[in-house]
Amino acid sequence: MATWTIRGGTVIDSEEGPWVVRDLHIGAEPGGQEVDATGCYVAPGFIDLHTHVFSHSLFTHSRLQADRIGVRQGVACVVDAGSSGAITIDAFPDNVHGTQATKVFAFINIGSPGLPTLGGGHASRPELCDLAATVKSFERHADWIVGVKVLASSSHTGSFGLEAVKLARKAAELVGKPLMLHVGNAPPLIDDVLDLLRPGDIVTHTYHGKTGGVLGYADRIIEPFKRAVDRGVVVDLGHGRSSFSFRVFEIALDQGMPITTISSDLHRGNVDSHVFSLARTMTKLRTFGFSLGEVVEKVTTAPARAIGIDRHGFGSLTGGTLTIFRELDKQVDLMDAEGVVRRTKTWIEPVGVLVDGHYHKVCETI
Ligand SMILES: [Zn+2]
Repeated sequence: MATWTIRGGTVIDSEEGPWVVRDLHIGAEPGGQEVDATGCYVAPGFIDLHTHVFSHSLFTHSRLQADRIGVRQGVACVVDAGSSGAITIDAFPDNVHGTQATKVFAFINIGSPGLPTLGGGHASRPELCDLAATVKSFERHADWIVGVKVLASSSHTGSFGLEAVKLARKAAELVGKPLMLHVGNAPPLIDDVLDLLRPGDIVTHTYHGKTGGVLGYADRIIEPFKRAVDRGVVVDLGHGRSSFSFRVFEIALDQGMPITTISSDLHRGNVDSHVFSLARTMTKLRTFGFSLGEVVEKVTTAPARAIGIDRHGFGSLTGGTLTIFRELDKQVDLMDAEGVVRRTKTWIEPVGVLVDGHYHKVCETI
């Protein structure tokens, strides 16, 4: 791997700090190239745990190139959250890994087609869920399929939702990987699906504003969600076009609920509106009092650990991926998925990203 020296940046080597300005060397060969990071922060490469980047020409829902929301926006690694399933995932290497500089991992959808359309297309109907084929996919692609995805939402699975969740949980158990659970419109009831989750499973779209979410009907956190958090379920944001409510999030935080990982749920339908980028989503969380170190941890160490890629060096400064960014004093009005606006005091602006020995300058800061 090429050697790089990142000069003069404030290196984020812990959640709390104090962080110091120092040069950072990546790679073991003598010589090498330099990046001037004066006035910037240097962090482990950002990881977006929930995206849709299966850029197959038949998949209009997710036909987003990984680099568009990856290296071009300062994100080193994106995780595709179930855009492909057992009968489509073999096309992933040619269509994604072979064409993109961003590191890409994937959750496999328990619905064999994956998510061919924006609405999901009820891809998890009983006849389309194939436990054996899902499990066998891990044998073929063990190095980049990191878990199983299920959409527990009537919008996607019709009335089969709870059974789809059970099948997905079983697949995850058989391969020893986490289940990522999309919570949305009932059926199935959120109470029933949360109780199926095991420690290390991931719930995404956690703080959506739809009826029947984690706040129940009286703005009180429901017991199944408290139990899931106590068991060690990973709480993911999954912003999306309709899945992050400032109001729900604020009430949940007030009642002691956590957010483990910050993810965007970026796909073709929300990259030019609503969500735009992971950095913008991180900035939104700064308005809730999270420190810069906490926000960075939720896109580096925390997601790396959640999907077990920390053992390959992701989420750490020495693993070979770095994100260089600034935090500007800047007031911006940012909107949640419900159309509610909060004004920021700061603005996280990625500058560049180092992946696989190559430095990519950020060309989209939105
Ligand atoms: Zn999604």
